[in-house]
Amino acid sequence: MASISTMRAIGFICLLLLTNSCSNKKKISPNTNLEIVLFEDFDSSILKSLKLDIQKFYGIKTVSSESKQMPISSYYKPRNRFRADSLIRYLNSCKKHSENLVLGLCAKDISVSIHNANDWGVFGFGYCPGNSCIASSFRLKKDIKPGYYTRLKNVVLHELGHNLGLVHCQDTICLMVDAKGKMSSIEGANRKLCVNCQQIIDGK
Ligand SMILES: [Zn+2]
Ligand SMILES: [Zn+2]
Repeated sequence: MASISTMRAIGFICLLLLTNSCSNKKKISPNTNLEIVLFEDFDSSILKSLKLDIQKFYGIKTVSSESKQMPISSYYKPRNRFRADSLIRYLNSCKKHSENLVLGLCAKDISVSIHNANDWGVFGFGYCPGNSCIASSFRLKKDIKPGYYTRLKNVVLHELGHNLGLVHCQDTICLMVDAKGKMSSIEGANRKLCVNCQQIIDGK
């Protein structure tokens, strides 16, 4: 198993490269299921639809969902945010079965060190490949702009795509395009993977 520092390095390399796959891509095994961690004050009313959409998109079944407090160890006081890399470490520690993936859903703002910024707020984050990812509703304009669920779903499918071996894609219609914080990049109810990314997921 890769150490956290190795995983972090791979994650950042994957963010920088504009190729279509990780060197060490992860296959979906028949034993891979999804465990969901709902962090405090995340609106769980969308959970049923989200589980169905994840299963439809990647064929991965959600086997558990549990509520947790945001870990205080991930809190970044200077910006009143939570560090996504630290949350991912926490999610890995929550995993019940070694072959499963863990998706964290939170309502607090989350950030990572990317785009030459020490602390850049993001919609979500996942390493490539990885075992856990996190999506936040904080930047998705939940109560002020229609289409919140679609945006959240697209962020979740994008981050799970990283975990499953996809890096950012140059095809602007592909779900794996780098959002770079732009809301327009995560809109679209029927967003799909491009042919190349889909082939990687299908193991072709
Ligand atoms: Zn991404
Ligand atoms: Zn693509």
